[in-house]
Amino acid sequence: MKVCKFGGTSMATVKSVTQVKDIVLSDKERKYIVVSAPGKRFSGDTKVTDLLYAAYAEQKEKGSAAETLKEIKDRFVALSTELGVSHDWDAEFEKIAEGIAASSTADYAASRGEYLSAVLTAKVLGFEFIDSADIIKFRSDGTFDALLTNDLVKKRCMGNPDGIVIPGFYGRMPDKKIKTFTRGGSDFTGAIVARGVKADVYENWTDVDGFMVTDPRIVDDPRLIEVLSYEELRELSYMGASVLHPDSVFPVQSDGIPINIRNTFAPEKKGTYILKDTAGYPRPLVTGIAGRKGNTNITIKKAMMNGEIGFCRKVLSVIERYGLSVEHVPTGIDTMSVVISDIDSKGVSKAKIIEDIRGMVNPDHIDVSESMSLIAVVGHGMANTPGTAAKIFNALYLAGVNIRMIDQGSSELNIIVGVEDKDYDAATRAIYGAFFG
Ligand code: ASP
Repeated sequence: MKVCKFGGTSMATVKSVTQVKDIVLSDKERKYIVVSAPGKRFSGDTKVTDLLYAAYAEQKEKGSAAETLKEIKDRFVALSTELGVSHDWDAEFEKIAEGIAASSTADYAASRGEYLSAVLTAKVLGFEFIDSADIIKFRSDGTFDALLTNDLVKKRCMGNPDGIVIPGFYGRMPDKKIKTFTRGGSDFTGAIVARGVKADVYENWTDVDGFMVTDPRIVDDPRLIEVLSYEELRELSYMGASVLHPDSVFPVQSDGIPINIRNTFAPEKKGTYILKDTAGYPRPLVTGIAGRKGNTNITIKKAMMNGEIGFCRKVLSVIERYGLSVEHVPTGIDTMSVVISDIDSKGVSKAKIIEDIRGMVNPDHIDVSESMSLIAVVGHGMANTPGTAAKIFNALYLAGVNIRMIDQGSSELNIIVGVEDKDYDAATRAIYGAFFG
């Protein structure tokens, strides 16, 4: 049996939902369907999930979310009318308006896009609707309860011969409140269902042909990755490749369920397979290249630092106190750097961090740079192959890019280079060219 997850663009228009219907009904093993909320219909459009966050904000500001909810309702009414299915959308939206008014967080509002999308899809396919709130569970501290969820998914979904549709992105807390995963979390729901029903494959249907070797916005028409391992996927998606939610491998990895990324708009293509073990497949030296801009690099200098036992621990304890996670810690004899991503999005003051580090270790000098890009070159093929790093560094040298930091993962699965944000695109193109040009 196959679990199929369809992303936002697949759920956005009458044409795309019809395509989804054809894909599902063309293979009788496609019985477990997980859907996202309708995404953008055209460039400049707004995703339903973003409209729902806006509806929650409207409720808080004006005491009613009526304006934005009307816009969302119109989309569902138009979709269902043109798809030839009927549903009492008035009643649904009345309930949603009440639910949003009673909510103290945006999660309930945000989850309704997937809920409505699944209600609609179930009708279009003639499948049963099962609400994620009944099978996907969180603990009271807000963490995902994998064991309880797996049990419930198994009991409720496994062996359903007629097919079911499940909304992605959310589940329920013990206090009955709806909670969502992080953005893009429907991929994770699909993986949870795949594990629960012991699927032969988890098909993740999106709007691209599969996983590209690198970002197509930077390199024209990059090659497709046909096969990659769970570990390579983790590395690439953590570092910025956005095809699949980075957590999606966790539910499927213990059972080794393959993930197959497919294009709803080109279903004849095989897409990308993500497997537990890729040893039996041809392995290029490098599988993929991904990166993230805008990391903060804090460099601390102090004479005779190397003799000061506990120096690194003290610096890192400051970062920990601010609830930030550290990406890399390159060190020299008298210098130590800490690379951190996303400081601004966490609402933490950099000036306060610097002040605390000064108080803690009394350095000679602290330098903060906020424009470091990290680029990861990933691939099992690099292990024990001399010359890979030389190839990367030579390509960057020839492109005139200064390398600010180098880090090789201990399993030789990745080499990470830090460059200035302004050099990010050129560096990515140069590395791609060196291995795939
Ligand atoms: N609709 C949600 C989002 O836009 C979840 C998802 O599509 O996976 O993030």
